[in-house]
Amino acid sequence: MKAEAPAPAERYDVVILGGALSGASTAMLLLRQNPGIRVLILDRAEKLKRRVGEATVEVSAFFLGRVLGLTRYLNEHHIAKQGLRFWFVNDEVESLDQAGEIGARYQVRLPSYQLDRAELDEEVLRRATEAGAEVRRPVTIKDVMLSSGGDQTVTYSTQDGSRTVQARWVVDASGVAAFLARKNGWWRRNEEQPTASAWARWKGTKDWDGLELAEKYPQWANAVHGIRGTATNHIFGDGWWSWWIPLKGGDTSIGVVFDQRLVNWPEEGKLGDKLKNFLLENPIAREILDGAEYDPDDVHWRRNLSYYSTTFAGDGFVLVGDAAGFLDPFYSPGMDWISFTVCSAAELIRKQRDGEAMAAPVEKFNRDFSVCYHRWFSALYKDKYDYLGEFDLMYLAFRMDLSLYYWGVVEPPFREGLKALHAPPFSPPSGKLFGTLMSLYNRRFAAIARRRRKMGELGRRNKGKRCLIPGFTLERKDMFRLFGMLGSWAMLELKEGWKSWGDSARSETGA
Ligand SMILES: Cc1cc2nc3c(=O)[nH]c(=O)nc-3n(C[C@H](O)[C@H](O)[C@H](O)COP(=O)(O)OP(=O)(O)OC[C@H]3O[C@@H](n4cnc5c(N)ncnc54)[C@H](O)[C@@H]3O)c2cc1C
Repeated sequence: MKAEAPAPAERYDVVILGGALSGASTAMLLLRQNPGIRVLILDRAEKLKRRVGEATVEVSAFFLGRVLGLTRYLNEHHIAKQGLRFWFVNDEVESLDQAGEIGARYQVRLPSYQLDRAELDEEVLRRATEAGAEVRRPVTIKDVMLSSGGDQTVTYSTQDGSRTVQARWVVDASGVAAFLARKNGWWRRNEEQPTASAWARWKGTKDWDGLELAEKYPQWANAVHGIRGTATNHIFGDGWWSWWIPLKGGDTSIGVVFDQRLVNWPEEGKLGDKLKNFLLENPIAREILDGAEYDPDDVHWRRNLSYYSTTFAGDGFVLVGDAAGFLDPFYSPGMDWISFTVCSAAELIRKQRDGEAMAAPVEKFNRDFSVCYHRWFSALYKDKYDYLGEFDLMYLAFRMDLSLYYWGVVEPPFREGLKALHAPPFSPPSGKLFGTLMSLYNRRFAAIARRRRKMGELGRRNKGKRCLIPGFTLERKDMFRLFGMLGSWAMLELKEGWKSWGDSARSETGA
């Protein structure tokens, strides 16, 4: 008897590896921009769980709200975020009202959100399905054979065995698994950023805006006219920071991120207890965690967070979100990166479907995202952990970083719409100038902090300082405040910075 010939592989226009935010939002854009396109999404999770990455900033909020059209959903199912709020201590700080504080006095001016990612990612996937995407889960992607300009072949396993599909395009949205980058040898650890993180969700944290703290610290409570609790509160120490993100329904996501060169993370014990004990060393964390418990089934750990791919696209494949790289969790750039990679990937595929030759757009895509990643990293993150615990340095850096973010990254999408998300930050020619300026002041603040560490002076300026900023807008007058900040930096150099002008770059021990 003759053996049955294998069934021909099914064919799609696009197969997306991973159905969380990056994958599902790429599907939504593709289906909107290319009527009739056939999109298949594969994911190993039967249902998406809570994941880290719960705070949007202004660009990711723009992407979710105005590009994906989720504003009403976000307001109904998540929390409107009130910016960033920073807390600093030293050995003399014993209570919340004595800590250094940086944050807004009033509510923020542009929208952003605190998200429950299990909810959000499922909703985006549901909308992609409603728009026409086919979703298969739980399945495990096993192999992808790339063919430039031809049909890509994806093999995945299901409970019933192995299946193969073909498509003109593969979009890799597999997150940290970074399927294509690892398989093809493009994945690189960012050796200059050895950060690690532990996080959990907690019940019973104290209400930053509640009566208990207001009665205990009335002056402290009255100093801020907006809401502290729905900001992303950050508690800082030397070489580490922690996020405090409220989730709809009452849980709080709390995580610590640290530079492994500067912080000795305890070796022994249960991860949740190590996280708790680490935080309890800090008087602010002690106050807010009094009576709170972490969920033992929702405690996580990841080390060496920062990495990138050396290739972002070819004629037939493109990497989006964490599958393409990750910078650092500080300032929540993860979903901004998703916004830029997803919008640019959908545009690349649209161009091919419109008949454009692919060589030039693919080359530009690779150049833009490579330049973007490395300049963004160098401008904001390299050596940042050296000075995270210093109130005065962070006050200056935060305001400069934020005004340049508003000026160069947030303003264009509000002015030009989706088109602006096709040009990743720092990739246009002006990105070199701004990247160089930002790298320079960030490197200088790191050098000043290293000198303070050497002289035993870290944290001296942290007690009892409160700087409440009026809030940033996209008005020119707000952007011009940058010049005043540059003046403050110059003053700092004259008063103290000059002492570290000749110092060599950081050593591996952080000294
Ligand atoms: C400590 C930390 C804090 C962070 N905080 C923030 C923050 O506050 N704000 C922010 O914007 N970003 C933050 N981020 C980044 C954020 O978490 C990510 O950018 C974002 O979740 C990535 O989404 P994604 O869709 O690209 O990938 P993921 O959410 O990782 O999704 C990948 C999907 O691919 C599927 N998959 C993978 N491999 C396979 C396979 N072989 N077969 C089938 N399916 C597969 C998975 O099941 C998953 O559903 C943080 C990151 C870290 C590490």
